[in-house]
Amino acid sequence: VRATRSGEEVRGYVPSMGQIFMRRFQLVTQLRQALENGEVSVHYQPKVSLPSRHVRGVEALVRWEHPEFGKLHPDEFVPAIEAAGLIGALTSFVLDEALARVRRWLDEGLRISVAVNLSVRTLLDAEFPEQVAAALERFAVPPELLTLELTESGVMSNPQRALPVLRELHALGVVLAVDDFGTGYSSLAYLRQLPVDEVKIDKSFVLGMGTDLGDLAVVRSIVELGHSLGLTVVAEGVEEDVARDQLESMGCDVAQGYLISRPLSERRLEAWLHARTTRAVDRQSEDVLTL
Ligand code: C2E
Ligand code: MG
Ligand code: MG
Ligand code: MG
Repeated sequence: VRATRSGEEVRGYVPSMGQIFMRRFQLVTQLRQALENGEVSVHYQPKVSLPSRHVRGVEALVRWEHPEFGKLHPDEFVPAIEAAGLIGALTSFVLDEALARVRRWLDEGLRISVAVNLSVRTLLDAEFPEQVAAALERFAVPPELLTLELTESGVMSNPQRALPVLRELHALGVVLAVDDFGTGYSSLAYLRQLPVDEVKIDKSFVLGMGTDLGDLAVVRSIVELGHSLGLTVVAEGVEEDVARDQLESMGCDVAQGYLISRPLSERRLEAWLHARTTRAVDRQSEDVLTL
């Protein structure tokens, strides 16, 4: 129990600045070992097409089951890993896991794409496109089954260096998506100049659109803007039926969120997909259906 400045008591563990610093330091020094001994894993969150609700792909979201700190979400360790210059190791790990997953689906006759999140640093790494090409070849995965998600602020941090990297990635045939759209600099004119295929509306707007007319207007205008630029529009943070229905009526192409599914471990994702493929087979269709 600690007293806060205003005097109320806060129960539970509140780390001090020193402890936060120590923890970040520990995470950075332990990463390689953690990757090797299986503490780091990739969870997958399904994305479905609207209005058909077919599974379109999954997003790879990294998790760290830390022996001392428990289950860590990426927001708790990715920034430290990135600052320490170790993001390359994490990105290759996630990329390999994700492509191995797609490969096994292909072997089972399923065409499901996977999206991998990129850090700012990775966008500035001139060697990265070569690494992606090699990984696609190693797993014999067609490039269109890989989506790479980047943020506007990542590109804007150094457009001179990021743009050539993006162009090379695009030339490989992988799908490029702008994540968390609407939160960064959001220069609409700039979006037009990026070699991207997809825009993901940030979940803050999607979560708010049921109660906030401003959020609803932002979502609607991103859908329109995206379509006028010929982009696929994805909404993340779809938690309610109402939101999905509204997005569907606006013409949003893809929905992702707790309504469809939370991010799942590989084993649970397999069960989730299996339930849907079986249903699809019952209906004499090759498609994977959901909801
Ligand atoms: P993101 O790429 O925008 O991923 C979406 C985040 O929203 C995920 O959080 C996901 O669990 C969460 N989410 C999904 N549906 C809903 C919903 O309906 N409601 C709410 N409230 N949240 C939802 P997560 O997994 O904690 O990841 C956070 C961020 O960490 C990601 O945001 C991404 O930017 C980053 N990240 C994740 N995996 C990686 C990775 O392998 N490498 C790098 N560099 N960054 C990663
Ligand atoms: Mg993402
Ligand atoms: Mg996002
Ligand atoms: Mg995010």
